[in-house]
Amino acid sequence: MGARILSMLTVAGLAVAASGTASAASPPAAPLKVVATTEDLGSLAREVGGDKVTVDVFSRGYQDPHVVDPKPSFILKLVSADLLIVVGRELEIGWLPPLLTQSRNAKLQPGGQGHLDASQNVKILDIPAGQITRAMGDVHPSGNPHYWLDPDNGRLIAQAMKDKFSQLAPADAAYFAQRYADFDRRLTEAQKRWDAAMAPFKGAKIVTYHRSWPNFVDHFGLNVIGYVEPKPGIPPSPSHTIDLIREMKAQQVKVILVEPYWDLRTPQAIARDAGGEVLVMPPSVGGVPEAKDYIALFDFDVNLLVATFKKVGISR
Ligand SMILES: [Zn+2]
Repeated sequence: MGARILSMLTVAGLAVAASGTASAASPPAAPLKVVATTEDLGSLAREVGGDKVTVDVFSRGYQDPHVVDPKPSFILKLVSADLLIVVGRELEIGWLPPLLTQSRNAKLQPGGQGHLDASQNVKILDIPAGQITRAMGDVHPSGNPHYWLDPDNGRLIAQAMKDKFSQLAPADAAYFAQRYADFDRRLTEAQKRWDAAMAPFKGAKIVTYHRSWPNFVDHFGLNVIGYVEPKPGIPPSPSHTIDLIREMKAQQVKVILVEPYWDLRTPQAIARDAGGEVLVMPPSVGGVPEAKDYIALFDFDVNLLVATFKKVGISR
């Protein structure tokens, strides 16, 4: 690890020198260089930023965003970025801080002008009431970081991006405002069709692998009765699995929702025992090719969920 960090530093050092020369020669109207930690944030940044921003993304939509393998190329992106957008709520705590330190890009550090924590103005669920420590294994100690899965939060994230882009590139403020208004209109239209499609399934009971979906189920009125993980970030255990199967049978729960990056053996065993279905559903843009942007992600997930509910005979 030491050697790896050292070599990353060397690469980053070279890039600092290179970008110093490049920025001196760059015209002021160059697009804002935006780095987003996830594809969901990247998609929203493209919606609002259009061709006045370039967007690079670290975590791919088919990967667990809590656990991302840091690459030297990430540091290079951070070295020259104008703005870093993070999910926050400690989602990236396991991999981003060392990269950010090594980038030596002062404005991207937390509190800097080029740092946008997208969790600041959205609805956050699962905020722990008592004292929570990481020793308990919980990877959500600051509230649930999967909040982008409520389209109303997506709108608020886009709005915060519009404000930040305008602050960093005031000459393009009207352009960003127009892009945001257009996205807001398309999102509002899309929400009408999602809400209509999901309306017959209000109160439907499901199980999910990780606690990725509280904002999604809150928005669409679903009811999560249990999780395959005993705690966020803690792998399934035999005793917890037995309890979960018993609960699913007692409440006649037929759907286990699994993010694409988990091993399917335990969910499938639970589904066999409880008489249910495993549904692999992407929580992020890029989780499947069809989920190519933020609105397409919800189109894909809502269609998949409705088809599965119909298949297992859930309707109200
Ligand atoms: Zn999580």
